[in-house]
Amino acid sequence: MKIVVLKFGGTSVGSIERIKKVAKIITTYKKKRFKVIVVSSAMSGATNDLIKKSLKLSNNFDSAEYDVLLSSGEQVACALIAGRLKHLGYKSRSWMSWQIPIITLGPYSASRIDQIQKKKIVKFINSGGIPIITGFQGVNLDNRLTTLGRGGTDASAIMIAKFFKAHQCIIYTDVDGVYTTDPRFHKNAKKINKISYDEMLEMASLGAKVMQPTSVQDAKLNNINFTVRSSFVKKSGTLVTNYKRSFSNQIITGITSTQNESKVTIAGVKDKPGVAASIFKPLSLNNINVDMVVQNISLNGKETDLTFTIKTDDIKKTQKLIRNNKKISYRKLSYDNNVSKVSIIGVGMITTPGITYRMFQALAKKRINIMVISTSEIKISVLISSKHVKKAIPILHKEFKLD
Ligand code: ASP
Ligand code: MG
Repeated sequence: MKIVVLKFGGTSVGSIERIKKVAKIITTYKKKRFKVIVVSSAMSGATNDLIKKSLKLSNNFDSAEYDVLLSSGEQVACALIAGRLKHLGYKSRSWMSWQIPIITLGPYSASRIDQIQKKKIVKFINSGGIPIITGFQGVNLDNRLTTLGRGGTDASAIMIAKFFKAHQCIIYTDVDGVYTTDPRFHKNAKKINKISYDEMLEMASLGAKVMQPTSVQDAKLNNINFTVRSSFVKKSGTLVTNYKRSFSNQIITGITSTQNESKVTIAGVKDKPGVAASIFKPLSLNNINVDMVVQNISLNGKETDLTFTIKTDDIKKTQKLIRNNKKISYRKLSYDNNVSKVSIIGVGMITTPGITYRMFQALAKKRINIMVISTSEIKISVLISSKHVKKAIPILHKEFKLD
């Protein structure tokens, strides 16, 4: 008998009615004679509520207790699912990560799964049981609860699929797959049937909120195929798998955009070795993620301007760190919160010349100004004014024949 791992996200278990639906889905796999392992997130909104509670008590809430608190939402969801399955006459029970255990390494709130002890779960599935495992949580070597970062149930599912050598891993969510671009922004968005890990990783990192990016990385490293599909409607989903070439003759697979991005410009910094490092060191020490970076060529050989992007949430901290940085001098510090990063992604661009030009030309025709550019082998990102995103996506979608 083959093992299938079924992951349910927050909206899939977001209400009592949804949990009944999820139990039904689980039983269909059981009827197809699969050995089923279920991994569940907390009911939608639950984790956010817990965060709000912690903030009311302290804005520096103890990190170990924070993880105990946040991981509790998954316990509730798993008990509800297992209880419903038992009501329907199935053998099932909930498993907290520490009962298995699922061992994690790394800091609280950003731990990674290192080991999963299989014995108890294997015994339970072999006896016909359906284990309902808490996603998002683990236990560390100090025997304390940990969590895997927001959206971490995806990583739990992928790692469970890995350790149990699952035949299939299905990520049930509220969308019926991965789209060429966000269907809320563009009516011509199309569902992608098959996508490579690398493309999915870029899509997830660049604003397609379907999966937690680290989970896609885990899947890629361990070569775990998975399918993203809806628990709301019965439709085939998107298969994410290892594939070197583009699955179709499409050059670009998807287009993403981000919000909450800010641009910082430090004008008139000294043009000499070590200055960029002095600027970015304190940011990195404070876990501020710098994304796109450009430095102008200095005209007089003395001074230059440096522009970079960060998450808007980090703007106050960044401002303070730069002002207090004794190692640098500059003329002016400026910010822009109204910027968005628009990216085109596709493994097809490795072998097709001229993609950069086509992207820039298409934007130029609509008089959209590009502020910063960054590229990798399979993506091109441009920073533009947020007000142009709605216009940019359809143009690029059409330009690269995704319509
Ligand atoms: N409940 C957690 C969160 O909201 C984990 C997850 O949804 O996967 O981030
Ligand atoms: Mg989630």
